[in-house]
Amino acid sequence: MISWQCPHCGKKMHSAWDDRENELIVCIHCAGTFVNPFYREEKDKPKSLRDEILEGEEIKKICGLWADKAEEISDKLDVVISDVDNDLLSRDQVVERLIKISEMLY
Ligand SMILES: [Zn+2]
Repeated sequence: MISWQCPHCGKKMHSAWDDRENELIVCIHCAGTFVNPFYREEKDKPKSLRDEILEGEEIKKICGLWADKAEEISDKLDVVISDVDNDLLSRDQVVERLIKISEMLY
């Protein structure tokens, strides 16, 4: 059993789970927020496909080329990212889509 004492109202909350993935806790009594002392940043967690794409080389190449087509490209990237969020694309398919986007720029 885990418990927190809210620094705002002084009341306690209890839970079976330490809520470690949340940096902030919201008090159920007064709705005040405070830092979760059990928070643990999961550094060992493998990167999600989304992060991998957003930090990847393919997207950097495209971003380096936007300039005059920024709006058009950013709309297309939004579509790709939302498909990734919905688990509709594998990494290879993403790269393929990004290559297609970057080809439009030439
Ligand atoms: Zn409180």
